[in-house]
Amino acid sequence: MPVPRPILTAELLSIGSELTVGETRDTNAGELARSLTGIGVAVGRIQALPDDFDTVRDAFAGAVGRADLVVSTGGLGPTPDDLTREAIAAAVDEVPVVDRELETWLRALWSRRGVPFPEMNVKQAWLLPSATALPNPNGTAPGWWVDRADGGVIVALPGPPREMRPMWADHALPRLVARGAGAPVASRTLRLAGIGESQVADLLGEALLRASDPVVATYARQDAVDVRISSRDVKPDTGAASAAAGAVGGSARAGGAAERVATMTDRIAAILAGHVWGEGETTWADAIGAALAGRGQSLAVVEVGTAAALTVLLGDQPWVRFAEAIAADSPTAREHGTADGLESLARRAMELGPAELGVGVRARARGADTAVSIVVVGPDWVQRERRMAFLGGANGRTRSALAAAHVLLTAIRAH
Ligand code: AMP
Ligand code: MG
Repeated sequence: MPVPRPILTAELLSIGSELTVGETRDTNAGELARSLTGIGVAVGRIQALPDDFDTVRDAFAGAVGRADLVVSTGGLGPTPDDLTREAIAAAVDEVPVVDRELETWLRALWSRRGVPFPEMNVKQAWLLPSATALPNPNGTAPGWWVDRADGGVIVALPGPPREMRPMWADHALPRLVARGAGAPVASRTLRLAGIGESQVADLLGEALLRASDPVVATYARQDAVDVRISSRDVKPDTGAASAAAGAVGGSARAGGAAERVATMTDRIAAILAGHVWGEGETTWADAIGAALAGRGQSLAVVEVGTAAALTVLLGDQPWVRFAEAIAADSPTAREHGTADGLESLARRAMELGPAELGVGVRARARGADTAVSIVVVGPDWVQRERRMAFLGGANGRTRSALAAAHVLLTAIRAH
């Protein structure tokens, strides 16, 4: 038995020509990456590979040279094009043998149904001297757990997600955790509006975005620019700790990951003040709904030229009492073409709700971009704003709705 080493880094291999010809989307690797990141194992690389022996063997050989853990999915079927077992055997230089216990289990699956056992399937009962089987209650292909000579681990999982997921969650992951894989992690995500990703990067600065502890990353999502701040507590004697040594500020390693993340989150929130509207998985509907609930208010929505983008963004909510979308070139839209007009449409919507708050949004093409007018009407206050949304058409309409949601939420919170 090799001496186990800390498992802090991983690489993922998604095996199957259906992936490399674009017939099947690789969902497995993304799910595994999320799960591993959650326990503090850093995924350094994800590769999709065709059913080609040399390619797969070389990929395993390369990955075990770089990472503590290699997790593969796919290629565990019985047919000659499924080569994962052969490739792992070659990469770790061992010879597979038929495991009697697995063979008995496998043959029983067929005799139970009264059909002859296809001898081709016997390779699903293979094991390496350094491998143990991971049970598969949802199929005929057991997985492999391989303890590498260098103390690392290879986990081979089946390709079909309905087999891969339970094998990972019920067998592989618990065993990795019991083996001490990963490190305590902390992460927070700030959700921003009214600012582009590059502007965020500009304000935060290169030093902060390139620092390795905490890691600060920006993501342009459909409904927000997210800034994710994360850190993990790696023991100082491991390689990963020295990789994390370029921390921002000399004392950043004092305290736990959660503390470092909290400090950095406060710092970033201060830099981006006015743009942060939520945290974590919060949606616009969550944030606006919570703000309204806190004040016992409901909402009426009127939109002009947005194809109901704001109503769609908010979704079916009990606090949206009334919503209408008016075509940009309709007589009603033309009669109410000014800011005053938009306000009177919002007031009419509030009456029809009835609702304590009203929001009106109008989108108009302005060159290649979209000019957005927003009015928010409260019980005893009115707020009007104009914004420019990047691009026209559907892009401009979606961004108009986001601008309106931002102005609305800010106005509710300010009153
Ligand atoms: P295999 O274990 O190679 O026999 O995989 C069988 C089936 O699992 C494939 O035909 C796909 O439908 C599915 N599959 C394999 N790999 C993936 C993957 N990375 N993501 C999602 N589905 C997959
Ligand atoms: Mg396959």
